[in-house]
Amino acid sequence: MNEYDSDRIKNALDAEPTDDPKKADIIIINTCAIREKADQKAFSSLGKFKSLKANNPDKIVGIAGCVAQLYGEKLLKRMPHIDFVLGPRAIPKLPDIISNIEREKRRTVETSYDIEELFEIEPYHKEGKVTGFVSVQQGCNKRCTYCIVPQVRGNEVNRPLKDILTETTNLVNKGVREITFIGQTVNSWKENGYKFGDLIRAAGEVENLERIRFTTSYPRDITKRMIDAMKDVPQVCHHLHLPVQSGSDKVLSMMKRTYTRQWYTDTISRLKDAVPDLSVSTDIIIGFPGETGQDFEETMSLMKEVEFESSYSFKFSPRPGTAAAEYSAEEMVDPQIASARLSELQAFQKDITEKKNLSRVGLIEKVLVEGESRNDPNFLSGRTDHNRILNFKGTKELVGKTVKVKVSEGLLNSLRGELVV
Ligand code: SAH
Repeated sequence: MNEYDSDRIKNALDAEPTDDPKKADIIIINTCAIREKADQKAFSSLGKFKSLKANNPDKIVGIAGCVAQLYGEKLLKRMPHIDFVLGPRAIPKLPDIISNIEREKRRTVETSYDIEELFEIEPYHKEGKVTGFVSVQQGCNKRCTYCIVPQVRGNEVNRPLKDILTETTNLVNKGVREITFIGQTVNSWKENGYKFGDLIRAAGEVENLERIRFTTSYPRDITKRMIDAMKDVPQVCHHLHLPVQSGSDKVLSMMKRTYTRQWYTDTISRLKDAVPDLSVSTDIIIGFPGETGQDFEETMSLMKEVEFESSYSFKFSPRPGTAAAEYSAEEMVDPQIASARLSELQAFQKDITEKKNLSRVGLIEKVLVEGESRNDPNFLSGRTDHNRILNFKGTKELVGKTVKVKVSEGLLNSLRGELVV
């Protein structure tokens, strides 16, 4: 989502993007507030521009994204070298903000939620890029007790189907072959009686679009209509990111996740009945307040039962304004215990991911070639249907094409193979 927003920020300004702060007239740090670490990173990144701004007072420096939304006005006081604060919903206001600063030299805070042109400004597209994101909703209506998203991104607003398809088609016309629809709970998307399954079917009709992905799905919003569409639309990739957060019903209920462990595993079974080779990845929070050794064991047993393709796991981080930040110090899990649990879970996942990667050796995978491999220009890199990175020898003309590759090696983070001709 932030990558997408950063690309919209790039496009909002009629300017050439540069990664070199010395050359830039305008420096914008786009930020994430989901965990404390990300939030702190925002401040240290901005701190780096203090002396640059002091020596070049005409440079405009701004903070965007969820940290901007969270602290608003306070940021101007805390950091005298920044010129503007821009919330994630207010990106379409950026051109006005910049011209006001240029004209009046007045520092600005824009964190209003109700921006009419919420979805305006398509993301910057780098020539030759074959994958792209399209936002289908902003904000979130769920109230997971640990999560700061509703506070900083507001309530759910769904984008009209017509506009989603227009942006998708525009990207495909620029050479994009794989679209990932993004939303905080992407599969709760709806508009005028259309539901998420209908959106997938409509995207399946876009000419020359070869692959459809979407993230992040909310378990309780998986419906028969969605599953049927995943089964019927051949462009839909057989990979689903479905955050479970915990394997303990007690913790799930404290998190207000609105499903039980049994409900979650039954849902995976329903999905796999329809799409037998579906690969599933997840997110886990370790050390939610009140998580006991027994609760953690239940999470581990879920990991063993489901064998996720991959998982992102995080230590609970209390976020200002969320219900879970209100627990007393005694109810918080000891940080050392939480770290030990996290390591155990991650070590387990590493073995499973490696085992799953090894199980692909000898198989032929379809790969959308995204570009040259980062480590070796003789190799091309792309993703399999299941979202695994696969590197193989080949030349640049294949970028943007879907090719068949026979897997020869399964590594921890990727596969290697040979082009099948
Ligand atoms: N709606 C988005 C939210 C992204 S946050 C989505 O589902 O993708 C990504 C992950 O961060 C969440 O699934 C959760 O596992 C983790 N997370 C969110 N808030 C957290 C917190 N306060 N502490 C630790 N991890 C958190």
